[in-house]
Amino acid sequence: MSQGASRLQSLAGKVAVVSGSSSGIGLAIAMELSSRGAAIVVNYPPPSLGPAATSAIGHLKTPAIVVEADLSTREGPEILIVEAVREFGKIDILVNNAGLAVNLPFEQQTIEHWDSLVNLNGRGTFLLTQKALPHLTRGTGRIINICSVSSRGAPPLQTIYAGTKGMIDAFTRVWAKELPPKYGCTVNAVSPGPTTTTGFLAAGDEAMEILGPTIQNTPVGKRLGTPEEIAFGVAFLCEEEARWVNGEHLFVNGGLFVD
Ligand code: NAD
Repeated sequence: MSQGASRLQSLAGKVAVVSGSSSGIGLAIAMELSSRGAAIVVNYPPPSLGPAATSAIGHLKTPAIVVEADLSTREGPEILIVEAVREFGKIDILVNNAGLAVNLPFEQQTIEHWDSLVNLNGRGTFLLTQKALPHLTRGTGRIINICSVSSRGAPPLQTIYAGTKGMIDAFTRVWAKELPPKYGCTVNAVSPGPTTTTGFLAAGDEAMEILGPTIQNTPVGKRLGTPEEIAFGVAFLCEEEARWVNGEHLFVNGGLFVD
């Protein structure tokens, strides 16, 4: 995976917690923020992704730790924050990236799908942010929620997934008003379009058939996005110069969806 080798060390001294960062977009975000000088807390769910997460931090250029914490549980978010603060003493940047998708006809979506998606995408984002806030650096903190074009684009086969991303979209708007006066932070969302990750490629044939013609109509190019392109959008919001950007929903999708 390429990393911005020539980046200025504009985030030197910062600590970034990136949830679900052993692979895909989360890993690309961890690498991009590290390339700008931030120390990184990598997170993965137990038990299978430990080796991937450990090898991931081998690619980072700054101090980093790996924390095993299942953010779909009630306890997982607190575990991640406690470990981050034990190691680095503070949090400057929180990226709520961990998320799961299910692509199935509405009639086939089950209560088990509901529990896994709502508990991770929705409750995990809620609890992780709540646990992080007491440790967020006052005046300069950044909260970035990885949402999805599905939160606004109404894609077939994504009832629960789009619903949880709608929840994150709404969290972002509420927090952008409620939290900066108390914590001096900014709160923004970044919404990838279809992006080449394991999670996306597992969407299934029916979902791919629906998406195929849509992707062909992407204005900037007839292709999927890359995790690095999403990470760049996140890093932009982390920069000091982005201090006046708050409550934004940044779509990084080549113009596939324009709100
Ligand atoms: P992915 O499936 O490739 O990676 C998901 C990450 O979440 C992994 O690092 C995994 O370790 C982590 N994770 C899964 N369950 C977890 C749990 N219980 N606790 C902690 N971490 C857990 O997915 P991705 O495509 O890289 O997606 C990352 C984010 O971007 C998600 O929120 C996803 O909804 C969003 N997104 C992705 C796309 C896309 O096309 N790839 C499009 C829109 C939005």
